[in-house]
Amino acid sequence: MLNAAKRAELRKKIGAEISATEEAARELESKAQPVDSTLTIGRLDRAEVLNRQELAHTALQQKQNKLAQLKNALGRVDDEDFGICEECATEIPPQRLLAVPESAVCVMCKEQQEARARRVR
Ligand SMILES: [Zn+2]
Repeated sequence: MLNAAKRAELRKKIGAEISATEEAARELESKAQPVDSTLTIGRLDRAEVLNRQELAHTALQQKQNKLAQLKNALGRVDDEDFGICEECATEIPPQRLLAVPESAVCVMCKEQQEARARRVR
């Protein structure tokens, strides 16, 4: 079970992670802005810009997902079952929680989920 000091540490870490992710999302947001069609750029340049915009958009969605997970994690830090794997109910090591605070499953379950996802694709 996580002690109060570990929870405080995690809360701080998650808070910092949220600020960093929000900042990255803001930056991506400006890159994902629609291209000004009145801009006089060549056709190749336009394709390049659209391509970059698309990438920024995908990255932005990933950041927003992460942000939602982090905020969720922050809300659960004080919960009794925070740090308990959602799948197999074993304790997730504090080091892993600190590294990936938004993770709700242990390493083993995560690997199984990824293996399942790979088979689906
Ligand atoms: Zn597990």
